[in-house]
Parts: sequence; structure tokens; C-alpha cells
Amino acid sequence: MKDNAICMFLMKKYRINILKFKVSHTSFCILYSTISYIVYNFINFDKISKWFYIKSEFDYIGLSAFYLIGLCLSIAVFILFAHRWTIKPLAILLTILSGISTYFIAKYDVAIDTSMIVNALNTDTTEVRGLLSIQMVPYLIFLIILPIIVIYFVGITFSGKVKYLLGSITLFASAMVLALGLLYAQFNPIHRAGNMSKKYIIHQLIPVNHMRSIISIIQSRIKTYLPKDDIKEIEVSAHTTTRDNLVVVLAVGESARQKNFSLYGYAKQNTNPILSKDKNLHMLNGVAKYGSTLYALPEILTKEEVPLATITAKAGINTACYSHFSLYDNCGTVGETRVSNCGHGGRCYDEDVIPLLNDNLKSYTSGYKFIVLHLGGGSHGPNYQKRYPPEFQRFHPMCLDADVVNKCTIDELYNSYDNTILYTDYVLGNIINELDNSGVPYVFIYISDHGESLMENDRVFHGMPPGIPLPPEQRHVPLIVKSSIPLSILKRQEYRQPDVYDSILDLLSVESNITDKEGSFLKK
Ligand SMILES: [Zn+2]
Repeated sequence: MKDNAICMFLMKKYRINILKFKVSHTSFCILYSTISYIVYNFINFDKISKWFYIKSEFDYIGLSAFYLIGLCLSIAVFILFAHRWTIKPLAILLTILSGISTYFIAKYDVAIDTSMIVNALNTDTTEVRGLLSIQMVPYLIFLIILPIIVIYFVGITFSGKVKYLLGSITLFASAMVLALGLLYAQFNPIHRAGNMSKKYIIHQLIPVNHMRSIISIIQSRIKTYLPKDDIKEIEVSAHTTTRDNLVVVLAVGESARQKNFSLYGYAKQNTNPILSKDKNLHMLNGVAKYGSTLYALPEILTKEEVPLATITAKAGINTACYSHFSLYDNCGTVGETRVSNCGHGGRCYDEDVIPLLNDNLKSYTSGYKFIVLHLGGGSHGPNYQKRYPPEFQRFHPMCLDADVVNKCTIDELYNSYDNTILYTDYVLGNIINELDNSGVPYVFIYISDHGESLMENDRVFHGMPPGIPLPPEQRHVPLIVKSSIPLSILKRQEYRQPDVYDSILDLLSVESNITDKEGSFLKK
């Protein structure tokens, strides 16, 4: 109050009418977002730009597109929440967060993500004091206090309702269209930099990082108040039409591509020494639709929002899901058992699902049974060598750096990736061996969620923007079938992932309102 009075006095005495600095609501949104974006991100420019080097050449176009997308998103989100009573508090809140983040990114090179913001909200004052230092003073003055004073004194004018609404919508829509257009145009370099930096390019981009975290915190808070999905009764009827004895085992892989399976003709080195000895395998041309695990797993395991495991369980079939990493709720009401007590000094690998499978098989006497095995380690980059135990580092020299583009040769990259396929060969070989030894009547199916790019057309890892089809190396995934019972496999050019869902229901004689017999390619 006292400060305010002094201010008023000075303003009167020197006839300063700061309110003369008037800007319209949309101009303020653009000016505030752009100026703060440039200032805060300029200080840590080197931290983000370093991920846009490709073989010592700087990708100016990719980097510019990335920064422009960030600016457009900042403007779009800002205008969405910045209205007559919220615009200044929002600008002040973002200024405080941005100033503090700039300091911590500059000093500690940290990622400002959701967990960081949650921690900051729960930090007590002694911890805060421990983090503060004299070096923070200039940041505090120039990046927080001065901007807040300016924001406080700027006069913002608001037009009439219709004009105001139209102006806001136009700005929001233009920013979003520009951001999306640039993302599609420069997807490859941005996707590559995002993966190699472990998303640091987003966690360090101010204020996109805060906006993303705050939105996700709000989302999760709202979720806790909403009725849980799994409580909702699934409206699906399912029953088995005939009784039979059969165990269906579906193994779901991660980032495995046909191109590097010797079984599918890969000739550089033998990545399938175990499976290639088995003459009773069927190698089919599996195709994936989505390049992201989050979307790809439901392609295999869920249809019309009903998880395959939920439907088999509902039909009275003994069902279990064993997972290394996460199946992201795709086992529905059955839930998933994660691997634990792993060998290799407590470090878990894909092979750790096998003891769970064995225990389950021991209890089998007769009837139908369905088991999902999630080999979630698979061939996921960029640190391929972390996906297999050390004894599977057989192809040398390997690429051991997350910056696979700049620090590794193509040969090294292939060796690291091929070791993951070699390990998958070992795990699948063991699963099949256990099934054979158990003596149960079985059908075994292995399919990967999507493939992987290894510098084909400068692409690495997996994922494409929505609506853009997957490139061949990500699209063609191994689909391997083996059975101990007579089985006919319908001949098709390509086998889609949802066909696996239908085939499993067909094998288990499950009739339901979402069964599609046409999709099934496995016939008893
Ligand atoms: Zn995946």
C-alpha cells in the first residue's frame, strides 16, 4: 500500500500518465508472448540449439521451425486463458515461473517438467533457501520484477463482445494453424532432436514447458474427481460357442522391424540364430498403423474401446497379462502383472516375463486360456544397448551414445539395434520352448507394436505426425505364429494388427457383439 501511495504521488507530481501506454487485448497477447519468449529463451539458446546439429552441420531451418512452433503455441494457450480479469495475473504468474526456470536451466541445465512443477509447489521454505544464491539476483530483478512492473502499468483495452471474441478466435486459430503447418513441414529434425535430447528441447522451452505441466496437473486433478473408467460396466456380451482345450499366448513386441530379422531375409548378420532352427514357424507380413506405443498397443489389444483381455475374461476364459514396462491399461479389467524380482542384479529385461508364463502354465488342466506377454524393452531407442543384458552385446562396434546421428556410424547403429533383435530371438525362442515342453495345446503369436527408423531418409526412432502414413521400416513388423494344434492360416498380402484381435477371439470361440470373423486369419 505504501509503495502504491508513493507511486501515485510521483505520478501526480511529475504528471506521468503511464496509462497512456495502451494496447489492445490481442496486441498485448502477441507482444507479451513474443517479447518474453525471446528474452527467456535467448539466455538458454545454446542448450536447445545443440540438439539441432546433424553431422556437425547446423540445421537452421529445423531449429527456426521449432522455435516458431513454440512461440505460436505460447500465444495460442495464452490467449485462451487471458481475458479481462485473468490477463494480468496470468502474465505475472508466467513471468515469475519463466524467470525462475530461466535461472535454473542456466545454472543446473535441468528439465522443467510436470514432476518439477509439482515438487516446486510442495517445496518448503528451507529447501527454497538452499537453492537460492546471490547469482539469482540479476535474474530476479531483470526477468521477474521489472517485467511485472511493466505488466502492472500497461493499459489493456478490450473491444466490444463480438469484436473481442472474433479477434481472440482469429489469433488462436492462426497461431495453431501455423504451428501445425510448421510441425508437419519440419517433423523429422524436430522429432529427432526431441528423442535424442530425451524431450529436453520441450522441457527447457519457456513457457511451453510450464504450460504443458500446468495443463497436465489440472488434467490429473480433474481425473481424480471423475468416475473411473474401469468402474463403468463394459457393454459387451461375450460367451464361448464351443468348449475346447487351447492356450493362446500373444507376445507384443516393441519397435521391432521386419527389416532386421534374418527370418524375414535380413542378410547383414544372423539376428535369429534360435528361431531360424525352428522349421514350424510362420512368418507373416504384419503391418502397423501407428508409430507411437501409446496408440499402437490399442491397435493390437483393444477394439471399440474394449480390451481383448476384458472380452476373453468376460467370456469366462482364464486370462492373464504379464508385462515388462507398461501395457497402458490395455488389459482392461484383467489388469497387468509387471515383472519383478528380476535376474541380472534386479535389473529387468524382457525375459523376465517367462517365469510368470511358466507358473501360469503349470496350473493348466483343460479348457481355454489366454495370456498376453508384453516384451516392452524390445528394440526401443535411442539407448538400444540398455534393452538387453550385457551377454547379448554380440555385434560390435556398437553405438553407445543417445546422439545416434552425430556420435555413431550407421554400422554402429545397426549393430546396437541388431543386438536387440538377437535378444528378442532368444526371448521368443525360450517362450516357444517353454510352451513345447509344457505339453499344453497352444497357439503362439508374436507381433510388434511398430517398427523403427534407422536413418532411412534421415529418420530415426519411431513416430510420425497424425495422418501421415508410417514409412516402410516402421510399418512392416514381424508377425510370427506357431501352434501345436492343426491350424490353417489364411493367405493375405498384409496382416493388420486388429486382425490379430479377431483371430484370437476366433481361436477361443468367443462370440460377442464386436467379434469380426472376417478379420480372423487363424482357423482351427
Ligand atoms: Zn512402441
